[in-house]
Formats: sequence, C-alpha cells, structure tokens
Amino acid sequence: AAKTAGKRQWRRYHPDLQRGMAERAKLQEGLDSSSIETSFMVLYQPIVELTSGRIAGFEALVRWPHSTRGMVLPEQFITLAEESGQIVPLGAWVLDQAAGEAVRWEDSVLRGGTADCNAPYVSVNVSPRQFRDEDFYDVIRRALEISGIEPSSLVLELTESVLLYNDERVLAEMSSLTDLGIRIAIDDFGTGYSSLSYLREFPISILKIDKSFVDGLGRSSEQYALVEGITHLADTLGLTVIAEGVENVRQQELLISMGCPFGQGYLFAEPVSAEEAEQLVLAPPLGRLAGLPVTPGDG
Ligand code: C2E
Ligand code: MG
Ligand code: MG
Ligand code: MG
Repeated sequence: AAKTAGKRQWRRYHPDLQRGMAERAKLQEGLDSSSIETSFMVLYQPIVELTSGRIAGFEALVRWPHSTRGMVLPEQFITLAEESGQIVPLGAWVLDQAAGEAVRWEDSVLRGGTADCNAPYVSVNVSPRQFRDEDFYDVIRRALEISGIEPSSLVLELTESVLLYNDERVLAEMSSLTDLGIRIAIDDFGTGYSSLSYLREFPISILKIDKSFVDGLGRSSEQYALVEGITHLADTLGLTVIAEGVENVRQQELLISMGCPFGQGYLFAEPVSAEEAEQLVLAPPLGRLAGLPVTPGDG
C-alpha cells in the first residue's frame, strides 16, 4: 500500500514520469554495446589559438542522432547514462573514435601541411563514473594502442567533482595516466566546489574556463576580473588556459588582452562532423581576427 501511495505522489509531482521511463528504455536500447556505434556519433569543436586563429586541438562531443527527435544533445542523456553505468562503454567508444580521428589529423598534417603546422590534439570528456571505473586505465591504454595516437595528442577533460573523492586513489590514477604522456584538463573550471589546492597537488595541465564566466566578459567588470584572475593563476602555476563559449570578437579581444592563449566557441566554429574537422585541419585559421583588421568594440 505504501508503494502505491508513493507512486501516486510521485505521479502527482512528476507528470513526466511516463515519458522519462520511455526515454530511459530508448536510451538503454541505444546504449546496448552492440548498437552504440550505430546509435551515436561524435562531433569535434576546434580549440583555437586566440591571436592567430590556428586550431590547436578539437574537443570530442557526443551526439545521439534520432529519427524523430533530431540531434539529441548530451545534457539529455549523459546523466541517465551515468546513473545506469552505460556511460562506461559509451565513453570508451567516444575515446576510440576520437583517438582514431586524431591520427587522421596527424596524417593530413604530415601529407599536406606546412612544416610549422602541429597536428591538433583531441580532448575527450570523461565523466566521474568512467574515471572511477576500475578498468579505466586499461581502456585508455587500449585506445592508445589500437589507434596509434601519440599520447601527447590526447587530453582528458575531468570536472572538479572528480577531485572530491578519495584523494590518494584519484592522484594515483591521474599520475598513471600522465605517466603515459596524456594531459589532463579541468573542465568547466570555476563552477565546482573543490579547493584550489588541488591545482598544485594533481598533475593537471589545462584549465578550461567555464562559459558562464566568458559570457559576461565585455559587460561586467567582475566577470572580467574573474577571468583575468583565473588566467594569471594558471600562468603562475604553469598551466594552459582555454576560454569556453567564445561567441564574439569583443570577448576574443579581451581574452587576448589579459593573456589568455586559447579559446573555443561558436565565434570560431560549432562542433562539426569528423569529415568537416578533417577539412578544417588544413584550412585557413578561424575567427575574424585572423589576418583581418578589427574594429575596437566590434561584436
Ligand atoms: P563541455 O565539456 O563543457 O562542452 C562544451 C559545451 O559547450 C558543448 O555542448 C559545446 O557544444 C558547447 N559550446 C561550445 N561553444 C559554445 C558557444 O560559443 N556557445 C554556446 N552556447 N555553447 C557552446 P554539448 O556538446 O551539448 O555538451 C554538453 C556537455 O555534455 C559537455 O560540456 C560535457 O560535459 C558533456 N559531454 C559531451 N560529450 C561527452 C562525452 O563524450 N562524454 C561525457 N562524459 N560527457 C560529454
Ligand atoms: Mg568538455
Ligand atoms: Mg566545458
Ligand atoms: Mg560544460
């Protein structure tokens, strides 16, 4: 009886329950490991050097193309996949795809590139659940082996929440990864609850400044001070910074003026297909600053 009452209450406050369950069933179907490769796809968004517009790397972003719902975005299924544990095989698949692409970019650069052109790295999001999985290290090792990617061309994006658990184990796991030559980035930096001391304690190479800070750059002196502060902090600690969600030239200019070296955002490119990413590797630099006169205050 208690169960029924509970159910009724749940129904009353969550009218979306039915739909949620149907979604979950669909997700589980899509995440059946035999169908991951047919259900999902990976897009790639350029990470550019702000002053030159040159592509330094690409972030791999998973998508779920759906016959009736269109392109389903990760925010609609990553949490579900984390809860069910299916993020583990999905994440491993994204990693394999991304590493394979990075090797193709390397080939393009070797074949068609100019001598001063470095092959872009690939940056892959790793959810806390994946990172804590006992097989994670082996999954990474296997991805490196199968793809033949240079470990230095692989970046793993972790969120600050990963650093909240079990310090010793997290530190050991991170160190074994960086010993392979892989780099670790902290994603959505500034939005978590971790203390800053972890920046010294853990082998981190890159901070990605969250879009929410970049958004207000031109409008709010507080936001400006925050982004500038993070940039200087990173500099002092010998870390690289990437500003997320750069949407206009004004933000680009302000970021350059405070010494932020890299950016990612719709100003340069939206996430694109693997084929388009391959084209971009040898294409001219991105962003309107590249070689063009810029009007101050533009954007
Ligand atoms: P994120 O890692 O912080 O990725 C950046 C998100 O910002 C992406 O959303 C990207 O499309 C979006 N973005 C980039 N530039 C701009 C911009 O200029 N304006 C705006 N409005 N948005 C911009 P997306 O692809 O929807 O991914 C959302 C989140 O889902 C990611 O945030 C990441 O946390 C997660 N995610 C995506 N792919 C994976 C994956 O393969 N594995 C895991 N575990 N998580 C993933
Ligand atoms: Mg990310
Ligand atoms: Mg991010
Ligand atoms: Mg984010």
